[in-house]
Amino acid sequence: MLPVPWRYVNSWHCNCCGLCCREYDIVLRFDEWLNLIRRYGVGVTRAGLSRFYIRRRSDGACVFLYNSFGKWYCGLQSMKPMACKLWPFKILEKPRYGKSREAGFTYNGKPFYVYVDPFCPGIRWGPPSQSLISHVIPEFIELALGIRNKQVYSTSSTGFIIHPLRGRERFI
Ligand code: SF4
Ligand code: SF4
Repeated sequence: MLPVPWRYVNSWHCNCCGLCCREYDIVLRFDEWLNLIRRYGVGVTRAGLSRFYIRRRSDGACVFLYNSFGKWYCGLQSMKPMACKLWPFKILEKPRYGKSREAGFTYNGKPFYVYVDPFCPGIRWGPPSQSLISHVIPEFIELALGIRNKQVYSTSSTGFIIHPLRGRERFI
């Protein structure tokens, strides 16, 4: 599914359905891969042709996904890969998916292009809410820029998260 400009999104809230942690391969940066294998061992990752991924269980789910009272949560939390932190938003410096006017977002005077992956059922479509503009998108931009680690608006209220894809991969 082609990412959609943020101007078509009213709000986003992760409902902990866990779909994104089952449907996509999570691509790891090298430093993320190193931190994960140091803490959990090499068995929680797998190597592709040119990149590392989080390992998936036989049912396709990420090895860190777990269920509690019917909701799906991430066992990594503070060590979540950036690909997971940014999901389902894509923060770009160029309008890679078109509709540059609708995707344009100015943060601290700098232009960004923000898209949302329509696969996520936590998206509510409609005119953007003030919270999306003032809190949610700025937080995703700050995460993408590496000037923020703590997730408040970019995760579920219970601390879940997720991000972008290529085919069935999620990557930065
Ligand atoms: S980010 Fe979206 S797809 Fe992933 S668990 Fe939350 S609601 Fe479900
Ligand atoms: S958010 Fe957590 S459980 Fe989901 S894919 Fe990423 S690391 Fe795995």
